[in-house]
Amino acid sequence: MEQKRLFGTNGIRGIPGKDLTLHFVAEMGLAIGTFLGKGVALVGHDVRNSSPTLAMAVAAGLQEAGIDASNAGLLPTPAAQFAIRKLGYDGGVIITASHNPPEYNGIKACSANGVEVSRDDEGTIEKIYYDKKFKRADWKTVGRSLEEPRGIRVYISAIVSQVDAEAIRKRKLTVVMDTGNGAQSVAAPYIAEELGCRIISLNGHPDGNFPGRGAEPTPDTLSALSKAVIAYSADFGVGYDGDGDRSIFCDDKGIVHYGDRSGAILTDHVLQTRKGNLVVTTIATSQVVDDVAEKHGAKVLRTRVGSVDVTKEMIDKKAVFGLEENGGCFFGPHIEVRDGGMTTALMMELLAMTKDTLSAALSKLPKYHQAKLKFECPIDKRAKVIEEVTHKAQGRIDTQDGLKILDGKTWVLLRPSGTEPILRLFGESDNKEKLDSMMQKYKEMVQAAINSLH
Ligand code: MG
Repeated sequence: MEQKRLFGTNGIRGIPGKDLTLHFVAEMGLAIGTFLGKGVALVGHDVRNSSPTLAMAVAAGLQEAGIDASNAGLLPTPAAQFAIRKLGYDGGVIITASHNPPEYNGIKACSANGVEVSRDDEGTIEKIYYDKKFKRADWKTVGRSLEEPRGIRVYISAIVSQVDAEAIRKRKLTVVMDTGNGAQSVAAPYIAEELGCRIISLNGHPDGNFPGRGAEPTPDTLSALSKAVIAYSADFGVGYDGDGDRSIFCDDKGIVHYGDRSGAILTDHVLQTRKGNLVVTTIATSQVVDDVAEKHGAKVLRTRVGSVDVTKEMIDKKAVFGLEENGGCFFGPHIEVRDGGMTTALMMELLAMTKDTLSAALSKLPKYHQAKLKFECPIDKRAKVIEEVTHKAQGRIDTQDGLKILDGKTWVLLRPSGTEPILRLFGESDNKEKLDSMMQKYKEMVQAAINSLH
C-alpha cells in the first residue's frame, strides 16, 4: 500500500492532539534528526498556543537522534530561516501553520542554508518515519538542549543592512503595521523603528487565537488597516500572514493591493538598484511582472505554484528576486525565502529613493483584467478532468502545474486547490472581452469533463 504523504506544499500540517500528537511530532523530530545525522539544529516556532510544546516535542526527538537542539523561541519563519544560515546551524525545524486557522499547526524542516529541505529529502524523512529506522543516541551521545536568543536580533540587523537605511530615515515614513497577532509582531515594528519610521500598530501582540483579523491577510481582512492608513495619513500600510513570510500592502489612499502588483513594483525597484537580471515567479502570477522585467532587459523564470519551488529555482539560477501573487517576496541578496520583514524594508527604500507615493508607483504599472472561477470536483478525479481539458485545449500550453493556456496577452490556468475538492480556473488579459470569451470557453470544457465523470 502506498504510504500517505506527510509533507504538503509547505511542510507537514495538521491539528494538534489529532494528527499532530506529541508522539507524532517527537517521532518526526527523531526522523529529521536521523536524516540530519549530526550537528546542531535550531528550533523555532510561531505564535500558536500549541507551538511552544510542539517545539519541545520536536527538540526531544532531535536530541534522541543525537542532534543538539537550540531553542530560538517565538520568531517569524523567515527570521528562523535566516538565523539557521547566518548562525551556522546544521539545519532546523520550525513549528508553524503559517496562515491556517488557529486550530492548525505544522512542521517545517530546513537545511543548513536555512531553506526548506528539498522534495527528495522530504521523501527520505518520510521513509525514515514510516520504516521506523531511527538513529537513537546512547546516554553519551544524546543531543543537548541549548538556547538561541539571537534569532530576532540578527534578522533585524541583516534586513536594515540590506537597504539604504539613511535614505529611508530621511524620508520619515508613517507606516501602519497590522501584524495580525502573528509572528511579525516581534520583528517588523522594530525594523521600521530602526529605519526611522513613525509606526501605528494594529493587532500587534502575539496571540495564538488570531483574535484581530485572522492569520491570512487579504483585502477583506485588512479593512481596519485601510481605515487606519487614511486616519493617520500614513505613507502605506502592511499586513502579514501568521508566520510573517508574506506581506500585503495598502497604499496611501487606503487601497489594499494583491501581491503580484506590490511585488511588481518591488521587482522594478530591485532590478533598478541591484545587480542581477533574473526574477523567479510562479505560473499563477500576473504578466505585469514580465512587463517590468522587460523594461530592464531581465528574464522571468516561472515555476510550479509553491514557495519551495521558487526558492529552489532562485538558488539554482542565482536569481536576484522572486515573488508570488499571495504576497510572498524573496530577496536573493538576503536569503532566497519569502520574507515579510525584508519585503517591507524594500518597500520603504523604494518610496525613499523614488520619492513616489505608493499609489503613484502602483498606478504606473500596466493594468490587466483578471477573472476567477471554481468547480466542485472530487479530489481523486481532478487530474482526469485536467487531462481531458488538456486534450481539447488550443494555443500555447504549459503543463508543469495543472494546465495553463496562453494566447498573446491572455491566459487561463486550471489547477486543483491544495486542500479542498475544488478545481480553480484563473484568467488574465489586457482585453476584457477576450478574457470573458476564453473563461467561458474553458468553463464549459471543465464542466463537460466533470459531468462526463458520472
Ligand atoms: Mg506564511
